Amino acid sequence: MIPDTSFAAAVQERSGEKLAACYQCLKCTAGCPLSSHMDLKPNAILRMIQYGQRERVLKSHAIWFCVSCMTCGVRCPNDIDISVVMDTLREMAIEEGYAYAAEKRVVQLHEEFVRSVKLWGRLHEVTFYMAYMARSLDIIASIPSGLALMARGKLPFLPKRIKGGKQIKRLFKEAYKTKGQLEEEA
Ligand code: SF4
Ligand code: SF4
Repeated sequence: MIPDTSFAAAVQERSGEKLAACYQCLKCTAGCPLSSHMDLKPNAILRMIQYGQRERVLKSHAIWFCVSCMTCGVRCPNDIDISVVMDTLREMAIEEGYAYAAEKRVVQLHEEFVRSVKLWGRLHEVTFYMAYMARSLDIIASIPSGLALMARGKLPFLPKRIKGGKQIKRLFKEAYKTKGQLEEEA
């Protein structure tokens, strides 16, 4: 694949992480609890970004498997927080149209999660869960876990608006402005 020389600079600018400092010590991958499920390991993602492999990175499943536990960032001798890099890559994958092909259901879950936080100021599990099931048709897999959560009182039916709701909306507004997505403003 032809290297995209603008890719590393774009990821570095958006994430604020010093990607060029990575010297492939592998400490991130050794500590990552999800690395065995990833098609590209965290250290490989860093290397491919440095080599301008935009398409391979943005098409990868790995960026959707990261759970932002931050173990890699704590272990990195160069203080590179890969969880922030992964967030950046997920946003870029959505913007550039690669996300659905890689992990459609995870992307739908991610989008409904963000929508719920934007609407209520925090996650409202019931409406989030229903919206996700309606979009993904992942009903068979979702119902047993939903019922188990309900039995434990973890799924309140009515959403509660939080005190800082306006500030949350303002954060979304600023984020969309930064991305030039003014039409997304609530
Ligand atoms: S721990 Fe840091 S320096 Fe080492 S491979 Fe991972 S990102 Fe690179
Ligand atoms: S933040 Fe993501 S990449 Fe880093 S250790 Fe956790 S799951 Fe792995």
